[in-house]
Amino acid sequence: MEDILAVDVSPAMLGAGLARHNAASPTSLSGNAPALRAWTGDIESVPTYQGPVDAVFFNSVFGNVHDQRGALDAASGLARPGGRVVLSHPLGRAWHGRLRAADPEAVPHALPDAGALDALIAGLPLRVVSLIDEADCYAAVLEVPPGFALPAPLLLEAPVVAGFGRGSRQLGTPTANLPPDQVVGAFGPAGPSLGVYFGWARLLDPDPEGSAPADAAPYPAVLNVGRRPTFEGQAGGDLTVEVHVLHRYAADFYGRPLRVAVGGFLRPERRFAGGVPALVAQIAADIGMARAALGGPEHAGLRGMVE
Ligand code: ADP
Ligand code: MG
Repeated sequence: MEDILAVDVSPAMLGAGLARHNAASPTSLSGNAPALRAWTGDIESVPTYQGPVDAVFFNSVFGNVHDQRGALDAASGLARPGGRVVLSHPLGRAWHGRLRAADPEAVPHALPDAGALDALIAGLPLRVVSLIDEADCYAAVLEVPPGFALPAPLLLEAPVVAGFGRGSRQLGTPTANLPPDQVVGAFGPAGPSLGVYFGWARLLDPDPEGSAPADAAPYPAVLNVGRRPTFEGQAGGDLTVEVHVLHRYAADFYGRPLRVAVGGFLRPERRFAGGVPALVAQIAADIGMARAALGGPEHAGLRGMVE
């Protein structure tokens, strides 16, 4: 069976679902065996560490969701790159319309037609793959942008500058900040897409005082190019380029040149309404996805670019 997380605001509904499932195929809920697990709350309360998931299904419920945009934002954040968000109603628009007419408080929204769907996802990292909108069947399939290899790897190199000194270390992920004006040119005339990238990084000239020989080797890295909306508010602040190298350095390396070969893009930048804890969980997921991507054959040559 697959790993499934059932999400509902009603513990009674979850209990009934689990009981029915376990009667058919009992599963152990301890350890990491694939299982049906339950989360009580709405989709926005599901922590990022539950993901990344292949798909998020809103089945026979989307019309009842009060903040539909917030729900889609949360769902897109739980899905892996290239993952799907599916809005479905097996009884379709006509039946749903009658339900809504009978109890508009419980069902505040109609199922979105093509135009409403476009408006709902505007600015979110989602695109419409397909929409079936018939009287007796409704299914909208949305996709989170796939993590993609860049057409060619990018090489960035610049001295590490001081950042805001606020947060990265407390988050457990120090980020070596690179001066944006010296590195964004590498992304081409259209500039970088804001978000998280992965690659290899190497500190070119570690300070002989205090650093260890291992500090001069190449290591996998995650790179954030963005405006820090979780800290700076929805509009974001100045563009920053920050590299977290997956290595424990013996000493800081401000002022020292860092070379980074960027292999691909993991996810678009988004604001975490859950604040710093949500961001920390997402960074951990990003690191896992970066390691997985870098292990693939398509990025085998990347490490050599920083040597
Ligand atoms: P700042 O806001 O000045 O960028 P951070 O808390 O983000 O401060 O810490 C960044 C500094 O930490 C880097 O400039 C670098 O000197 C040091 N550092 C130590 N280990 C790492 C690492 N694994 N990846 C990136 N930077 C690291
Ligand atoms: Mg930093």
